[in-house]
Amino acid sequence: MATPPRTEQVIDPVFVEPPDFAAGAPAVRSVLDSLHRKTGLVTGAAALLRMNQPGGFDCPGCAWPEETEHRKRLEFCENGARAFADEATRKRVTPEFFAAHSLADLTMRSGRWLNEQGRLTRPMVKKPGADHYTPITWFSAFELIARHLNGLDSPDQAAFYTSGRTSNEAAFLWQLFVRVYGTNNMPDCSNLCHESSGTALTQVIGSGKGTVRLSDFDAADAIFVLGQNPGSNHPRMLAALERAKQNGTKIVVVNPLDEPGTRRFRNPQRVDGWVGNGTELCDLHIPVRVNGDVALLKGLCKAMLEMEAQSPGKVLDRAFIKEFTTGFEDFAADIASTAWEAIETGSGVSRALITEAATIAAAADNTICCWAMGLTQHVNAVANIQEVINFLMLRGNLGRRGAGACPVRGHSNVQGDRTMGVWEKPDAIWLERLGTEFGFTAPTSHGYDTMDCLRAMDAGKVRVLVAMGGNFVAATPDSGYVEAAIRKCDLTVQISTKLNRSHVVSGNTAIILPVLGRTEVDRQPGGEQFVTVENSMGVVTASRGRLKPASEFLKSEVRVVAELAVATVGTRSAINWRRLADDYDLIRDHIAKVVPGFAKFNDRLYDDGQIELPHAVRDQREFATASGKAEFTVHELPALNVPVGQFVMTTIRSHDQFNTTVYSDNDRYRGISASREVVFMSAADMTDLNLQAGERVNLSSGDGEATRTLSGFAVVPYRIPRGCVACYYPEANPLVPFDAVATGSNTPAYKSVPVRISRAI
Ligand code: SF4
Repeated sequence: MATPPRTEQVIDPVFVEPPDFAAGAPAVRSVLDSLHRKTGLVTGAAALLRMNQPGGFDCPGCAWPEETEHRKRLEFCENGARAFADEATRKRVTPEFFAAHSLADLTMRSGRWLNEQGRLTRPMVKKPGADHYTPITWFSAFELIARHLNGLDSPDQAAFYTSGRTSNEAAFLWQLFVRVYGTNNMPDCSNLCHESSGTALTQVIGSGKGTVRLSDFDAADAIFVLGQNPGSNHPRMLAALERAKQNGTKIVVVNPLDEPGTRRFRNPQRVDGWVGNGTELCDLHIPVRVNGDVALLKGLCKAMLEMEAQSPGKVLDRAFIKEFTTGFEDFAADIASTAWEAIETGSGVSRALITEAATIAAAADNTICCWAMGLTQHVNAVANIQEVINFLMLRGNLGRRGAGACPVRGHSNVQGDRTMGVWEKPDAIWLERLGTEFGFTAPTSHGYDTMDCLRAMDAGKVRVLVAMGGNFVAATPDSGYVEAAIRKCDLTVQISTKLNRSHVVSGNTAIILPVLGRTEVDRQPGGEQFVTVENSMGVVTASRGRLKPASEFLKSEVRVVAELAVATVGTRSAINWRRLADDYDLIRDHIAKVVPGFAKFNDRLYDDGQIELPHAVRDQREFATASGKAEFTVHELPALNVPVGQFVMTTIRSHDQFNTTVYSDNDRYRGISASREVVFMSAADMTDLNLQAGERVNLSSGDGEATRTLSGFAVVPYRIPRGCVACYYPEANPLVPFDAVATGSNTPAYKSVPVRISRAI
C-alpha cells in the first residue's frame, strides 16, 4: 500500500535546532494560541481554571494523576490545555458540512484536517452505496443499529470497541449491555498500548496495574524512565520529576532518542521557569538501540549481581528475595551465563554506561521504574516489562514507599475501562458477580481483542462494529489491511465528539452518534450528572462537566448506551436502562456491588471527590501469582533480525498530538515544523547513505506481495542510535506488519519495524 493520497499540499519540513528544555514560556504561548483559535481566550481560560480541580472536570488528555498534596490553581499542562481546547472548540461539523463534503473528498483529507473541522452536532447515516452522510434521527439510528445487531446469526458477529476516554459509568453500562446482548467481543484501545504491561505484571506480581502512588515520587532515591517521553505525552510528570530532583533523586532516562522533555524542565509555574534555566532532570541518558531493552535490563541486573559478588549483602535485598519471591536462582544463573558482549550488542550500550546506571540503582534504597509505549509495543514487550520487574526486585523495590513499578497510561480512563469490565477475556468471578447483580447469564467464551477483531472482520466473521469513541482505523497498524477489513463490515457505528478517519473509512452502512464531551454539562432527568475516571495510579476521581454542550442534539455516552440497549435487548432484559441513565448514582451503586474496591462508592465520592483503589502489592506485598510470590523470570535476548542495510524503525508522537489526534504539523521539541512526513535518522547514517537534511526517501517494510511503502518522506538528522530511525504515529502505521504483535499480549509492534530506505526518485 503506498502513502495515502492527500488533497492538502505536501510541504517541506522546516528544521531549527531543538530546544534543550521542556515547557517554559513557549508552552504558555502555545496554550494561549490554542485558546485564542479554538475556544476564545476568556471562555477558555475560565474553563481551564476548573480542569483537574475539585468539582471541575478531569483533563481529557493522558492518565497522569492530578496533584492533591501539591495541587496548583492552574493544574494542567500545555497538552492538557490543548486537549481541552480541542474538545471545546467553537467549530461545528453540521449536516451542511456533510452535504458539502463527499466521502470521496473526506477520504483524501489528513487526520489533522478532519479533526480541525470541529464538533459533531447531529446523528448522521451513510446508507449503502451513498457518497455522503445524511441526517438521521436518534430514534431511527438506534432502531437501525438494533436491526443489524439482532439480524446477525450470532452476537459474536458483532464487536464493541472502547476508547480510553470513556468514563467509568459509560464503560460499566457498555460492558453490561454487550454481555446481555450476548458476546465478549470487547476490543479496546489498551490492547494497542499497555496490554503488554497488564499481561506481564499479572504473571509476575499478580496485578496488571502499577504499584506506586504519586507521593512515592517524593520519596524515591532513583527514578528510571524507560521508553517514555513524558515531556510530550505526560507533561505534568515533569513537575513530579522536578520535585524529586530537588529532593536529590537521581533520574536515569532510557530512550533511543535524546528528548528535550527529559533533559530540562522550565516550570511555567515557577520564576526560574521564566527567567532561569529551570531544573535539569536527567542525570544519565542511556541511548539504547530500538528494542534493545531486554539486553540493557539484563545488563543492569548483571552489573548489580557482580557488585553483590564483590560486596555480599551490600546490593541485593536478600530478605525480600527470600520471603517474597521465587525463581531467583534460575534468573541469576541465566544472567551469569549471558555474556557482556551479547548485552552490549543487543542493547547498543557500553558495559561502562550500563554499570554507571546500575551503580545509581545499587546506591538507591528506593527506586521507581516508569515506562510507556517504548517498552510495550514490541514483539518481546512482555519480556521487556518482566525484566523491569526483575531489576526492581533485586533491591526489594515493590510494596515500599518511594519504590515500585509505574506504567504510565496514555488515555485518561483507559485503566478505568478495564476495571469496569471492558475486557474480551473476563474472568468467571466477574461474570458471575455481574450475572448475580443483574439477573442474567453472561457469555463465558472469550471474545476478540483489537487485532483478532480485525482478523475476524477480514474473514467476514465480524460484520458489525460499534465504537465508543476513539479512532479505530488510524490507531491500528498496517492501514491498508485494516481499511480493507473495515470496509467488509455491514455496519460501523462511531460514538464520537469529533471527526476522524474512522468516520471516513467505514462499513457498507455507517452511523455517527455525536456525544457530549467530558468538559460539558451533562443534564439528565435525575439532574446534573458527573462521571468518574481512574488514573494510572488507581485513584478514581469525579469529573463534572462545566461548559455548555456543543449542540442541543448531543447525548451523553451513558444515555447512548442505555438507548442502544433498550432498542437492542430491551425486550429480553429486566434491566431498567433508562433509569440508570437518568441518575448515574444508580450505576455507581451497581459498580459498588460488582467491582472489587468500590464499596460505598457514592458515599466516598461525595465525601472526598475521589477514592483510591486497593493494591495488594503496594499495600501488603501480597502477590496473587500462580506461586503466591513475586516471580523472577528468564528471557532470551531478542534476535536482532534486521537484514543488512536495513534500519529498525520506531514510531513516535510529536509534541503537537494526543494519540491519533494531530493538532498541527509542528513538533517544537524536535525542532520540526510544517510537516509530519519525516524520518529521523542519525547524522552518521545520513553520511553513509549520502543523504542531506530534507532529502526525500521512500521507506518500505515486508517483501514480495506484502511490501508496504511510504513515499517521499524527508530525512531529518536527529540524536538517535545508528541503524535506528523514527517516524510519526499514525503516519507510519501503514509500514507496521499486521502480524507483528507482542507475544502474550497481542499488542502491535509499532515500536520496532525493519525498514528499507531508498532515495525517492
Ligand atoms: S499531564 Fe496528562 S492528564 Fe495531566 S494535564 Fe497534562 S495531558 Fe492532562
